Amino acid sequence: MKIIGVLGGMSWESTVVYYELMNRAVRERLGGAHSAEILMYSVDFGRIEALQHAGEWRALTAEMVDAAQRLARAGADFLLIATNTMHLMARQVEEGSGLEVLHIGDATAAAVRAAGVRRVGLLGTRFTMEEPFMRERLEGHGLEVVVPDEEDRQTVHRIIYDELVQGVIRQESRQAYREVMARLVQRGAEGVILGCTEIGLLVGPDDASVPVFDTTRIHAEAAVERALANA
Ligand code: GLU
Repeated sequence: MKIIGVLGGMSWESTVVYYELMNRAVRERLGGAHSAEILMYSVDFGRIEALQHAGEWRALTAEMVDAAQRLARAGADFLLIATNTMHLMARQVEEGSGLEVLHIGDATAAAVRAAGVRRVGLLGTRFTMEEPFMRERLEGHGLEVVVPDEEDRQTVHRIIYDELVQGVIRQESRQAYREVMARLVQRGAEGVILGCTEIGLLVGPDDASVPVFDTTRIHAEAAVERALANA
């Protein structure tokens, strides 16, 4: 089994889910008391989030590369960036650490395509919905990506940072997300990507009329698939 290096803590609310899913997936595959071999660097997200909102992407890139190098030195075989947003610097992390990054966008696109969906809605942080890094990655796999309008993007972003990363789950926010997803469906989305690793804490398959693709779940499963390849 290969050792999965996780850049985590962004936020830890979702890293906990990754940890559980990866261990469960290994147990399902290998049985008995088997579990995943994982090295993790878990950051102080308060600091990271402040830098994100200040637009300090160069400093953030340096931090992610540094953390990835620590994981490389510790013996990780490949890397998982356990957040969609911080895939913004996935290439630099890969180059700086010399380790392969198992990209969340590639894993998600494969799942979306396998479900026969081509036009897909994308929810996430403002950075993920507005910057090209995720949209273009998905488009590179032949998908057409629909993002919410400005007002809905603000709502989706605010709920992630003011509530979900802080462990706050509100029924009215769940309802707001349902409405945002319904508007994406009205605009032709045949499925919706939960493109932030905390969104699965709030909504799931029952909250939309089309298939939803939870990036945390998909990414964790892809990591185990990779760790056990040729095992
Ligand atoms: N976990 C979120 C994501 O998947 C947001 C936190 C972050 O900015 O890293 O994008």
